[in-house]
Formats: sequence, structure tokens, C-alpha cells
Amino acid sequence: MKEIDLRSDTVTLPTDEMRQAMLNAVLGDDVFDEDPTVNKIQNLAAELTGKEAGLLVASGTMANLVCVLAHCARGEEAILGDKAHIFLNEAGGISAVGAVVPHLIPNQDDGTLLLNDIKNAIRGEDAHWPKTRLVCLENTHNRCYGAALTPEYIDSVGAVAKEHGLVVHLDGARIFNAVVALGKKVKEFTRNVDSISFCLSKGLAAPVGSVVCGTREFIAKAHRSRKVLGGGMRQAGIIAAPGIIALERMVERLKEDHQNAQQLAQGISQIPGLAIDLARVQTNILYFDLVNDAMKPEELQRRMAGKGIRFLQTGPSRFRMVTHYGIRPEHIETTLKILNAQMKTA
Ligand SMILES: *Cc1c(COP(=O)(O)O)cnc(C)c1O
Repeated sequence: MKEIDLRSDTVTLPTDEMRQAMLNAVLGDDVFDEDPTVNKIQNLAAELTGKEAGLLVASGTMANLVCVLAHCARGEEAILGDKAHIFLNEAGGISAVGAVVPHLIPNQDDGTLLLNDIKNAIRGEDAHWPKTRLVCLENTHNRCYGAALTPEYIDSVGAVAKEHGLVVHLDGARIFNAVVALGKKVKEFTRNVDSISFCLSKGLAAPVGSVVCGTREFIAKAHRSRKVLGGGMRQAGIIAAPGIIALERMVERLKEDHQNAQQLAQGISQIPGLAIDLARVQTNILYFDLVNDAMKPEELQRRMAGKGIRFLQTGPSRFRMVTHYGIRPEHIETTLKILNAQMKTA
């Protein structure tokens, strides 16, 4: 039985072309800035995002951490959504390592932060208060149904930040899903942010790595933070090579993941005992609820796993499914058929 793994798009495996690229990558010591393949992906990323420079790092978590460390001194404050990955899923790194104070404001269901909430969170000059330094956005928003923030919204946050002397970091782990969902260029999302991080290892299917982009000055600081974290990697071209394929070949096909998520969501909406807000399904992440008292969520998950279908429970009666490279329309049909059958016997 082949598993249908809908837990995350991080389970994607590299393509044959990526494996070939790893084999043939021209390598050097990146700690001496001498790995041509690393330099190539950093330049490519900078060009894509319209920034001066890029930096390859080991993971999305490290990417966000080096950015926050580069932007904020100890005791300075970062405004974050209360559902931000940086706050919920990165082991408290910005505080544990950087002594950066998270100032939480509510994430709206569409992943945005209200401009008024941001303005109200910005502190003035007072020796009692932490200095507000940074606003972080997330696109697409993992916890907020994979919602894509629009370039115009990001611009509006950039304008508020600028007015108050703050900087903006965009956690763009899945920025390419937003690019494809909204039909915009990466640069449109990044034109008014100071830094962006994105993952090569999710829907783009590369095995490892994230890239951070910003000004040359910012990247020099991020480079230093990466060193502090032990993230200076030597012949890292082995990681960069499949990453280049990811950026050049794997973006357009994210559309298929979005179509599959739509098909999955439509199907779930037809199954008695399950509830899903179809209007919220915009990219490759969907959340749905069990609204049937006859079955415990753990029971449904266990039964589905027994049939080879895996997904995550993310709340008392809430589940998450993520479509990705490797999930095809027939897998969606199988998932729906089995899910329907299990709910019937609840
Ligand atoms: C996956 C993800 C990250 C980074 O995760 P890693 O597992 O460390 O690569 C960061 N932000 C968001 C929104 C994510 O979904």
C-alpha cells in the first residue's frame, strides 16, 4: 500500500533532475564564499526578490531567526501575529537566542494584521518600554488556511512601518504559492519589505534549504548571525544545486497543488460530519473540522492512517491537509472515498 501523505508539503522528495544536479554541482568552500553554486542561487534569489543580496541557510526556521537577529538588538521588540510560525513553531528562537521581545497582535482569518493593531502596538520613546523595531508578516499564512497576502496589503504595512521608523520582515516560506495563487511576481510582494525568507524544501520539492534576501548591509549582518548559529556550511552547493532547479522549474506546477486542494476541499464539504469553509481555501493548505460527536478526532485519524492516509490534527476537532508534489488527482479521489466511508461508519 502506497501512503498518501497529506501532513505537509515538506514530505516532498527531490526530482530526478535535482538528484542529477546534486551529483554534477560545481563545489567550493562557502565559508570562504567560494562555492559557485551557492553564489549562483544567492544571486538568483536576489534577482527574483528585487533585493541586493541573498544568503542560503539550512532551514526556514534558521532563515527567520537570522533575519530577526540581523534586524533587532537584544531587548528590542518585534510585532508578530498571534498565529505566526515565528511565534508558534520556531521553538521561541527569537527570544531564546536573540532576547527579542515578541509583541503579539491578532492574526485575522485571512492572515493579515490590522493596520490599526500594528499602529497601536508601536511604542514611543520611554525608558520603561522595549523599543519597537520590526513587524513580521507571513505569506502564505500557514495557520490561517494558507491564505495569500496581496502585494497591496504588504505595501500598506510597509508604509506604516516606514512612517514609524520600523523594518518589515516577510516570512515567505511559501511565497511561491502566493505568487501562483495571485498571479503576481515575487518582486511585487517584496518591494516594500526589508527582508524576505523563503523555503526551497516545501512545495518546490528541494531536499534542504531556505534563502534570505535583503540589502547588502543586511545580508552581511545575517551572514554573521548564521555563523553564530553554526550555519556556515562548506560545500553547500550540494544543497544549492537542487534549489536552483526548484526555483527555475517547480514554481508553475504549484498550480496543480492548488487545484488538488480545491478538489479535496469540495469533496470534504460533501461529507456529512465534516465542515470546511470553502472560501478560505486559496492555496495548498486546508483545514477542516469534525462536527460529528459519534467519532473522536483521534479515532478518525487512526482509522485513516490504517488505510494509508496521513494528515495532522491541529486543534481539538480540527485537521490540516496539505497538497504537494507527489499528490495527484487520483490520490485526492482515494482520500475522499476512504474519508467518506469512515465517516459513514462513525
Ligand atoms: C515551514 C515554515 C517555516 C520554516 O520551517 P522549517 O521547517 O524550519 O524549514 C517558516 N515559516 C512558515 C510559515 C512555514 O510554514
